[in-house]
Amino acid sequence: MDAPVRDRYDAVVVGARCAGAATAMLLARAGMSVLLFDRDRRGADTLSTLAMMRAGVLQLRRWGLLEQVRAEGAQAILSTSFIYGDETITVPIKPRDGVDALFAPRRTVLDRLIADAAAAAGADVRHGPRLVDLVRDAGGRVTGVTIEDRESVLHTIAAGIVIGADGLRSTVARIAEAPIYHQGRHAAGVVYAFWHGLENQGNRWHYRPRVSAGAIPTNAGDTCIFVAMPGSRFQDEVRLDMEAGYRRVLSECAPALAAELSVMQPTERFRGFPGHPGQMRQSHGPGWALVGDAGYFKDPITAHGISDALRDAELLARAAAQGSDRAMTEYQATRDALSRELFEITDAIAGFEWDLESLKPLHLNLSRTMNDEVEALLALDRSAPADANPPGHARRPAP
Ligand SMILES: Cc1cc2nc3c(=O)[nH]c(=O)nc-3n(C[C@H](O)[C@H](O)[C@H](O)COP(=O)(O)OP(=O)(O)OC[C@H]3O[C@@H](n4cnc5c(N)ncnc54)[C@H](O)[C@@H]3O)c2cc1C
Repeated sequence: MDAPVRDRYDAVVVGARCAGAATAMLLARAGMSVLLFDRDRRGADTLSTLAMMRAGVLQLRRWGLLEQVRAEGAQAILSTSFIYGDETITVPIKPRDGVDALFAPRRTVLDRLIADAAAAAGADVRHGPRLVDLVRDAGGRVTGVTIEDRESVLHTIAAGIVIGADGLRSTVARIAEAPIYHQGRHAAGVVYAFWHGLENQGNRWHYRPRVSAGAIPTNAGDTCIFVAMPGSRFQDEVRLDMEAGYRRVLSECAPALAAELSVMQPTERFRGFPGHPGQMRQSHGPGWALVGDAGYFKDPITAHGISDALRDAELLARAAAQGSDRAMTEYQATRDALSRELFEITDAIAGFEWDLESLKPLHLNLSRTMNDEVEALLALDRSAPADANPPGHARRPAP
């Protein structure tokens, strides 16, 4: 890796996927000097079933990135079907606020596009270095990072703020000793694979007692199909032979889909996630902040992590550009206000203690919280300008 071009930045962002890349892009668009780095290579894949909610797609549209997502081959998703046993309820995606379809881009595409947009906005973007430590002043305030490059050379970089967008097992959170103040009770196990050549029928979410499955059209004519189950079943029965477990759970939950796949092979290997309970962490302190899964993680069963990361990137970028403790406190309060109900609903769905009738009101409440989230994002356009502006639009001066 080439060393970062400067030895001090207004902001250093650790982790260059959806949360970190978007935060860096917005800070750079606001005129701040930004270092964005990730230990993974540019365009590397990560565990994800890829579905984005309207709020996430809206963020891409507001930031001027949605056309690139389309151009890179993400299929347009025109409806969402909830399939409760044998009952199907299909909801078309209504065109509004510049969003006429949902998209589920591969992470090899989405994270790269946003990191490239950060670079285009002026951020110094590095793939390869790994955060090893935070630097503090005598008063304990975080004032920079120590990073190790691929040649094992250490670099110390000063920062006005260090932002941990380094995922569920965040190093920034660990070193900053960011406490977890709310935890979920449940964790679902997930197995997924990509299948080529299936008809695009929109997003399809299947539910039967103690199992769920989903089909999500993505890039290159592929469909991501996942199965989810209580974490204990994943551990006891599925973990050691994921293909057999996947096909068995799918045939319980969506028998017609399982039959269609029974004569096919996936385009890539089966991938599994054993589950992890949701958690909310203190997400700011003197000289540091957390965004994305690093600060707030919920079970993937409601497919909301990417959309929330894009939402919170903007909330944090606005707060960090203001730079006051009050703005940072408001960032976390707004994130939590928009997330708390979704978090509880997600935890309840991940617990698999529902039956098909008690699941429906959970989904209705989920839909209501998602509408609130979209309204909150649209309200940002009516408040302070600038951070969301795509290249070529007016920028705020450096704070
Ligand atoms: C099985 C599964 C399925 C999912 N499906 C969906 C879905 O359908 N829809 C959805 O919205 N969400 C889904 N999610 C959740 C979603 O993937 C996450 O919410 C999202 O990836 C969070 O993004 P992030 O940028 O916060 O962190 P991450 O994507 O975790 O990225 C963190 C980055 O930080 C880097 N990093 C970590 N430590 C260091 C270090 N010390 N130095 C340098 N770099 C570091 C890592 O290399 C990584 O690239 C799913 C998750 C799982 C596990």
